[in-house]
Amino acid sequence: MPSTSTHHDETADDPSEPESALQTARRQLQHAADHLDIDPSVVERLKHPKKVHEVTVPIERENGDVEVYTGYRAQHDSVRGPFKGGLRYHPEVTREECVGLGMWMTWKCAVMDIPFGGAKGGIAVNPKDLTEDEKEQLTRRFTDEIRSVIGPTTDIPAPDMGTDPQTMAWLMDAYSMQEDETIPGVVTGKPPIVGGSKGRDAAPGRSVAIITREAIDYYDKDIKETSVAVQGFGSVGSNAAKLLDSWGANVVAVSDVNGGVYDANGLDTHAIPSHHEEPEAVMTHEAPETLTNDELLELDVDVVIPAAIGNVLTEANADDVMADIIIEGANGPTTSTASAIFAERDVPVIPDILANAGGVTVSYFEWLQDINRRAWSLERVNDELETEMLEAWQDVRNEFETRDVTWRDAAYIVALSRIAEAHETRGLWP
Ligand code: GLU
Repeated sequence: MPSTSTHHDETADDPSEPESALQTARRQLQHAADHLDIDPSVVERLKHPKKVHEVTVPIERENGDVEVYTGYRAQHDSVRGPFKGGLRYHPEVTREECVGLGMWMTWKCAVMDIPFGGAKGGIAVNPKDLTEDEKEQLTRRFTDEIRSVIGPTTDIPAPDMGTDPQTMAWLMDAYSMQEDETIPGVVTGKPPIVGGSKGRDAAPGRSVAIITREAIDYYDKDIKETSVAVQGFGSVGSNAAKLLDSWGANVVAVSDVNGGVYDANGLDTHAIPSHHEEPEAVMTHEAPETLTNDELLELDVDVVIPAAIGNVLTEANADDVMADIIIEGANGPTTSTASAIFAERDVPVIPDILANAGGVTVSYFEWLQDINRRAWSLERVNDELETEMLEAWQDVRNEFETRDVTWRDAAYIVALSRIAEAHETRGLWP
């Protein structure tokens, strides 16, 4: 994957640098607000997080050294329900990045109409540098540091880049042991054996596949004659690629951090190991051609799905993207400048806050199961996810058609109307 930094000063205005997540989130908020008749003071409030917690996380490494990391939890808005959002372990995690990504979670939950607000957190650390035991220690200590600000009715973390179901199990255990009772609802994305939901792992990729299928249909294409390229073969990319493949799409290219494989006749995606099964093994798969991540994004395909990291579609390559439809699997894969170029070129970009929202939607199902102490079947999870995705697609599509805006603006308009109405109804107090 091209190494892309999201570590920027919020005020940085060097046009060659991609915007920070916070700058983008604020710009998108203002853009949607311009289409709506809402109280400007509500928009002003939404430009700022409610609270940002910064903590020090010391651990003893296996060689005996003590290493000190910095952790964050940015809580953006909770007008519609508890704060909700992932925890990221990545060297470039910053306070600003957590605030920006937390804002995206507020919009994502609102576009799905689930009763949560938005938050994001993480630790500035490269998880690849840690042993499994060190990662466990780091997670338990971080949990303890943020214990007073998270909880099943206040703020519910989940997995994100660099964290996984096991990380969530450690968090749940550390929190529960200190509270003296088992509280599975404090975190989602756990393994099912400790209160996780069936289908949660695959849910972001499943929602990307559902939205891709709907977009293909909307633009009068037949899924069986649609070629698809997917960047990233982690949870989102691999599940989306495999589902689309089983629904008859021609998945011609997939990639991981090292590059990708290409077959014009379609890859057998089920035979390619996902990152979870075998990290960085896409290139070991036998295929007629290999290609770089940059080449994958510029393939002449019907649909391209960037599902790896942020800021991969930029001013530098937006004019060279040949796909007819772009579906954002990752959070923030398209810079604002690239979005403007795609709008100008009339290339639809279906935004992350809709396309990958299956993750937080099944997190909501998981939270309901935890509260009720009753697990749902995989079939029920997938059926209800399908229903929620189709409803959200319909809501966004209505705005897209009636207002003649981009898909991104349409999704933000749906989200912001709900959030603003809730703020106006509740009022400003104390
Ligand atoms: N980290 C995921 C996201 O960006 C999931 C968040 C959640 O389930 O709370 O949507």
